[in-house]
Amino acid sequence: MSRHYDLVVIGAGSGGVRAARMASTYGAKVAIIEEYRLGGTCVIRGCVPKKLFVLASRYPEQFEVAQSFGWSFGEPEFNWSTLLSNKDKEIDRLEGIYGNILGGANVEIIRDRGVVTGPNSVKLAKANEELSADRILVATGGRPFVPNIPGSELGITSNEAFHLKELPKKILVNGGGYIAVEFAGIFAGLGVETTLLYRGDQILRGFDEDVREIVAEQMKARGVEIKLNANIERMDRCADGNIDVSFDTGEVVEFGEVMFATGRVPNIEGLGLDTADVKLNKSGAIDVDAYSQTSCHSIYAVGDVTDRAALTPVAIREGAAFVETVYNDTPTAVDHSIIPTAVFSEPEIGTVGMVEHEAAKAHSKVNVYLSTFRPMQNTLTSRPEKMLFKLITDGETDKVLGVHIVGPSAGEMIQMVGIAVSMGATKADFDRTIAVHPTAAEELVTLKAPTYQLVDGKRAN
Ligand code: FAD
Repeated sequence: MSRHYDLVVIGAGSGGVRAARMASTYGAKVAIIEEYRLGGTCVIRGCVPKKLFVLASRYPEQFEVAQSFGWSFGEPEFNWSTLLSNKDKEIDRLEGIYGNILGGANVEIIRDRGVVTGPNSVKLAKANEELSADRILVATGGRPFVPNIPGSELGITSNEAFHLKELPKKILVNGGGYIAVEFAGIFAGLGVETTLLYRGDQILRGFDEDVREIVAEQMKARGVEIKLNANIERMDRCADGNIDVSFDTGEVVEFGEVMFATGRVPNIEGLGLDTADVKLNKSGAIDVDAYSQTSCHSIYAVGDVTDRAALTPVAIREGAAFVETVYNDTPTAVDHSIIPTAVFSEPEIGTVGMVEHEAAKAHSKVNVYLSTFRPMQNTLTSRPEKMLFKLITDGETDKVLGVHIVGPSAGEMIQMVGIAVSMGATKADFDRTIAVHPTAAEELVTLKAPTYQLVDGKRAN
């Protein structure tokens, strides 16, 4: 007799843990299978260690700015292994908390690899045991994609970047998405000579054009070399252990390390989805309906493996919505249309809602409010960096369609603005709100006339 559960969850990451815990709280008998570490990408090798690295990388600038406020001190020194071991301790602590939360909710934790063997069965690969379940939730996340280039095995991905024995003197980060941009900022901040390589015209595709431009400009000002419209053709190990990178521009440059941040793919390989006729979508992710149900009715999927929006809070929401739908008789679909999000680049980005060209396509009249200014913390220095605030509104209804912020604490600000935008706030609602002074955020409620208007997609002034 195989062990039977109401729900078997494969993958103890952001989505899986939330769903397992909630389903158990509603009375379901739940097991969660994890092949690596509890907490998944976000806790073990994603958001959390990344943010710790970002915080570490920002100190040199703080040291410089501190001097303009009268502070003086000796030459600051940085120790990479101290950061690594403190980071590892914190990740161990968080993993422990995840274990306690699951245990406390009576979820059975199974340390193994789960493979679907049918609509109601999952095999444990190591234990060679089959479990049966009324329902299966696939929450296996994603993993880095590395392009098939000669010598690409010499490179690392974000997974390895969290465990480098020592920092290289010179690194090439390949990619233009948020993970590439964040790691370029981390390495540069920690004193590594950093080149960011992207095949397109500008980094951060999909973000607002003004945001892309100002971030690229300021990254360059902070010493990151941004190489656009170029690709790696091959990589070769040099005698001194470094890597010779040949670009399709004809150049060959030596780097101590090459990091690929060239996208992520859903973890579905060898997962046995075909045994239950679980269909994939065009991007190779698991195809689900608004309630995260797959083409096999007893199997659901949430998080990065479904490639809806690869973000922790989204995976958590999808996990929770699945449980509300199935175990609490409350059909709940996650609204993916407005997702506030941050990029912990240097400078930081906070963004919610439509970018300008989306708004221009969707609405015949669009107002754009733009403001750039030096953040107060830099005004006693000669640092030239500016913050950017951009508000995009519907010229007909006055509704705020998008807000984009670049600069210190942009991520913190956008969480709050996200509430207003999700509620459907108008520019008049923003204007009615009394400013908090002196802050950077007060700019959001003091923007006067539109900087320009778009009528039928074209600039009217
Ligand atoms: P995951 O958290 O990836 O969990 C999946 C789990 O399933 C893993 O633990 C894996 O080991 C396990 N697994 C896979 N296959 C099997 C199997 N067959 N059997 C058993 N176990 C299996 N998001 C943000 O919101 N903010 C950020 O700042 C942010 N930064 C990021 C930085 C980096 C470098 C990366 C890589 C990601 C970042 N993300 C960030 C994205 C975020 O980590 C993911 O969106 C989130 O973790 C997805 O959750 P999930 O539950 O879908 O999968």
